[in-house]
Amino acid sequence: MNVINGKKIAQNLQASIKLKVDTLDRKPGLAVILVGDDDASEVYIRNKENACKEVGFYLEIINRFDNISQEELLFEIERLNDDDKIDGILVQLPLPKHLDVNLVNETISPKKDVDGFHSENIGKLMQNKPFLHPCTPKGVMLMLESIGVDLVGKNCVVVGASNIVGRPMACELLNAKATVTICNSKTKNLSCKLIQADIVVVAVGIPKMIQSDWIKPGAIVIDVGINRLDNGCLVGDVDFESVRNVAGWIAPVPGGVGPMTIATLLKNTLTAYEARI
Ligand code: NDP
Repeated sequence: MNVINGKKIAQNLQASIKLKVDTLDRKPGLAVILVGDDDASEVYIRNKENACKEVGFYLEIINRFDNISQEELLFEIERLNDDDKIDGILVQLPLPKHLDVNLVNETISPKKDVDGFHSENIGKLMQNKPFLHPCTPKGVMLMLESIGVDLVGKNCVVVGASNIVGRPMACELLNAKATVTICNSKTKNLSCKLIQADIVVVAVGIPKMIQSDWIKPGAIVIDVGINRLDNGCLVGDVDFESVRNVAGWIAPVPGGVGPMTIATLLKNTLTAYEARI
């Protein structure tokens, strides 16, 4: 079994972005909007802030109270759409319940949509003509590339079908000519599907749900899940300790997909910058 070191792969990607940024007169600009004071969101934003500093991006963090109105938030996004210093806009999720996430995603210009959630960017991915990719699935693809796996004809099972992870993940794998099964909460006989998979990607949000007897020996297992246990520990959706004895490769939590998501956000921002100059 080999552990996929997402942190290291992300550092290498960030180093290559920094080299590029060092040659630029105007630095790529990222705007992050944080609504409210959710603890987890603040941690994610701090990580993004550090990563932006490391590669030399211009960063604007916009904090708004959780009673911001829908109109005020959309106005803020429109302002950033028109701001020439800004190449990428990200609204940290989750948002308070009174705000419409879809409307927020659709208001961000597709050219600055560095989370890759706008329907135009999702549509392009579906048609295998991607521009800005959803960060987490693209991060997983870069991880798979870094271990040299040939995806053509591989049986892949994606567990989880959310708009931000599972669905675009399945699409990325399909675009790479893998054979893809996508599972959701109503899937029957999940273990029978998993045991046939060469590559398993799990994004469900249930701690240690995937056990070793569901995994084909030698399979590649990518755990996207991030779950905080009552004792404060961070665990994934895969039971790492048992699955590591069966898998050929496994991405751990923490230190796996998480850093790749941030590195891909930076890559998207650079892509958006390059498309605007
Ligand atoms: P969502 O809650 O939006 O989606 C969960 C998906 O899992 C749904 O499609 C749901 O099915 C499916 N599901 C639920 N129970 C089962 C089950 N028993 N068997 C099969 N599928 C099931 O979550 P997200 O996609 O946003 O996030 C998933 C996990 O990934 C979370 O732990 C989150 O914290 C983490 N995450 C990590 C990131 C990273 O950078 N590492 C980035 C984003 C998320 P249905 O569609 O039927 O409801």
